[in-house]
Amino acid sequence: MSTETNETIAGDNSSENQPKLGINSWKPLEHLGDSLSPKNGSNNANMRRNASFGNMLPSTTKESKVRVIYTGGTIGMMRNESNVLIPIPNALVKMIRKYPNMHDQAYAEKRFGTAAGMAPLILPFIDGIPNRVVYTITEYNPLLDSSNMTTDDWVHIAKDIHQSYEFFDAFVVLHGTDTLAYTASALSFMLENLGKTVIITGSQIPIFDTRTDGKDNFTTALSIAGNYVIPEVCVLFGNKLMRGNRTIKVSCDDLNAFDSPNNVPIGRIGINYEIDYRLIFRPCNISRFVVHADMDVNVGLLRLFPSITSSTFRAFLAPPMKGVVLQSFGSGNIPSNRKDILEEIRAASERGVIIVNCTQCSNGSVAEIYDTGKVLKALGVVPGYDMTPEAAVTKLSYVLGKRDWTLEYKKQVMQSNIRGELTAESPLMEDYDLIEAVARSLHLSSPAELSQLGATLFPAMLNAAVLAGDIKKINSLKAYGADLSGVNHDNRTALHIACHEGNLPIVNLLLQHGVSVHIRDRYDRTPLMEAVSVDHHEIIQLLLSCGAHLTGSMRAIGEQLCSAAARGSLLRLQSFQLAGADLAQVDHSGRTALHVAALHGHVEIVEYLVKNYDDINGKDKLGLTALQYAKMIEHEEVIKLFGDGSS
Ligand code: ASP
Repeated sequence: MSTETNETIAGDNSSENQPKLGINSWKPLEHLGDSLSPKNGSNNANMRRNASFGNMLPSTTKESKVRVIYTGGTIGMMRNESNVLIPIPNALVKMIRKYPNMHDQAYAEKRFGTAAGMAPLILPFIDGIPNRVVYTITEYNPLLDSSNMTTDDWVHIAKDIHQSYEFFDAFVVLHGTDTLAYTASALSFMLENLGKTVIITGSQIPIFDTRTDGKDNFTTALSIAGNYVIPEVCVLFGNKLMRGNRTIKVSCDDLNAFDSPNNVPIGRIGINYEIDYRLIFRPCNISRFVVHADMDVNVGLLRLFPSITSSTFRAFLAPPMKGVVLQSFGSGNIPSNRKDILEEIRAASERGVIIVNCTQCSNGSVAEIYDTGKVLKALGVVPGYDMTPEAAVTKLSYVLGKRDWTLEYKKQVMQSNIRGELTAESPLMEDYDLIEAVARSLHLSSPAELSQLGATLFPAMLNAAVLAGDIKKINSLKAYGADLSGVNHDNRTALHIACHEGNLPIVNLLLQHGVSVHIRDRYDRTPLMEAVSVDHHEIIQLLLSCGAHLTGSMRAIGEQLCSAAARGSLLRLQSFQLAGADLAQVDHSGRTALHVAALHGHVEIVEYLVKNYDDINGKDKLGLTALQYAKMIEHEEVIKLFGDGSS
């Protein structure tokens, strides 16, 4: 695939000849008043990360930003003069702007004024869905039929997500359906420690065709991505939201073309979205999001059939092959009476080829029930349990790309559950005794009532345990089936509370259990902002190491910096700096913390900021520099700190 990317947010009049813009296409916003003040030039990550439309919003509206990566496939195709479906470069955004069920032009105009035609797209209001989704579409060039996609294209998508990870709340990938399950599986492994929602979708009928399924798939994917933190690579298709590495394409013509045969869907799409939070697979490492792009292409899928010859085996397993998914019969069986085949498998295994045993059945898992299954393990073949062929082969590619892992470790990882892709042992029944006892006394019995009760009681009990600093209780609530990632009525997680309480051990525990650092509460505050608000630097550092970053309006951060400077709180300024804020960020009056500190005569802060600013001569909206403020209050000590070169 070409590495060219068209950032297609330009307006109708310019989109015919789409300019090749990068992520800087969000630039029109700068004309709207929330201008960015880079500390280290225009590529400064802090600058971009905080780009926001906050000052343009009615105070009650929450927005989330979603980046759509359009790779090709039926979904975006249009009919040419001969009524043949083809991908037309740069046409998707242009068309979407004309469809009021995919873009809210009135909101865009109110929000972005005259720049609305160039601005990002806005998903129309959906009843019951809190966040307005602001989205931008990155169109790949050329647009690909997914049958033509390769490992390089997965790397392209993964890198695009990585490059813009901090600027968006979630990602939607538009993709052809034919190899969509492979891409979803591959990305699930490549995106390590993913903390944000990634949804891949496509359609059976093009998005602008009258009977399209593409419009529903697309808008549902957008609204889920913009409203739920599901730190997984998911596939949204028809009425299901599925774990990506569990999906297979099951039909060429059914609108429910994908299934997840060995894993219950994470969500059901009906009139409402029913997302089951307990099914979300959460990364439980204290590590930042990274992309593993080094995928080994010397892998393959070998499907057994009666009378397959040993020469087929020999040819297939020959170098440079390094990893093979053997699609065996039933629950993992091969013909144990075929010594010729067994010999080929043994020889390859001894050469270091990793052979993974997966079943040909779409449903079920390999297990050593029969002698014909046991024989493979003795030859060094690794059980792949209930992995789909797509997951198994892409996982092999990922694992083999880990150059510093030993062969033994790679084999161990192949049979371990690393992204929810396999069920290695039968799931343990969670202990619901507590909820059941309360349910009995309230005469509640249906599964829906029980789960409602759990959803009501657990967050409150969890919050109380966090406030009390009671780690033992948190662990026992978890054992009772509480979802540690659950939110209360203010959309606050236990992690928000633990950060606000400054309780490092509990923050650590919650992060180890995969609680997301990206959930914003009703006031748009993340756990990181809570940690900043109590100046807990160790917690700030821990959150950053899990991929947390500042979000929201830069101006709002500017206001807070100025307010800290006015109060004389050097510690707060340091907390913001540690969290990634640019200390030179301006507030709505164009003032920086340095202006305010100078005005208030806070010597220690001025001294600190002068050392940390690239330019100490910035002017506020009154045209005044920080030094001029110091002169106005005739504070000699502060004036001296500006040195001779200042104005
Ligand atoms: N051949 C198309 C593709 O995978 C089919 C589709 O998009 O549904 O790109």
